[in-house]
Amino acid sequence: MSRFEGKTALVTGGARGIGAAVARRLVAEGARVVIGDVLAQAEWEVGLPEARVRRAHLDVTSEADWFAAVTEAERVFGHLDVVVNNAGIVEFGPITEQSPESFRRVLEVNLVGPWLGMRAVAPSLRAAGGGSIVNISSTAGLIGYADLGAYVASKWALRGLTKTAAMEFARDGIRVCSVHPGPIRTPMTAGFDDSMTAEQPIARFGDPEEVAAMVAFVAAEATYSTGSEFVVDGGAVVAGAGVRPDRAEVGAGDRG
Ligand code: NAD
Repeated sequence: MSRFEGKTALVTGGARGIGAAVARRLVAEGARVVIGDVLAQAEWEVGLPEARVRRAHLDVTSEADWFAAVTEAERVFGHLDVVVNNAGIVEFGPITEQSPESFRRVLEVNLVGPWLGMRAVAPSLRAAGGGSIVNISSTAGLIGYADLGAYVASKWALRGLTKTAAMEFARDGIRVCSVHPGPIRTPMTAGFDDSMTAEQPIARFGDPEEVAAMVAFVAAEATYSTGSEFVVDGGAVVAGAGVRPDRAEVGAGDRG
């Protein structure tokens, strides 16, 4: 398949994990890709075909880094057609225990980052005559998880921001959608136990390539979809997996 022949893409957080799989998939289908990440070069996953790839130091929380990455992409490959806001972090903590610094850090990367990104890339996509922005949210943008308040808040907010962007950018021919992965085997989930997928209809972790396939579909073929949510989660949401009240007696106090 060559659904991205002649297209230029930018993928954030693409040094490893889901972002690297997305970059590999887009390149395999013909795209030229700028990959932005904060990791040192030595920590990047190998296997990305260098001829069609440029690596950029892009901290998604930095407006200056965004400007530099878009400028570099346009200089080397031309206007952007596809942007995947994938970079994200997770930090755990119950609401009463997570520090304000930790809460703000997660929001800054997972929400402010894509917001800065969409502002930075919109003129380039417009100049290309339109295109597609794919924001990587999570099942945590669809349901709740205990001890993940900052992450859940950031992913719900990104889902909402996606819908506003879809409405504002439609006039420029830019579609904006969110993709919602469930548990995927990446460095982010390295310490997570397989048993956490036991309640899912598809009771295993997903592979980054399975998310990449969804992202490629949304970017290339979902031409009648914008502001839409695409779930790739092994059925985690439909099974209610992960929705875990903190205590069995939740609500008991209200009954007096
Ligand atoms: P990962 O930690 O394996 O990779 C994330 C990448 O983002 C890393 O290369 C990291 O260096 C980069 N990054 C972190 N902060 C950055 C910043 N400020 N600027 C630029 N790059 C930065 O994670 P992953 O599992 O591949 O997750 C990718 C995306 O998918 C994230 O948004 C994550 O929230 C989301 N997601 C992951 C899962 C999962 O189970 N792995 C599930 C749902 C959603």
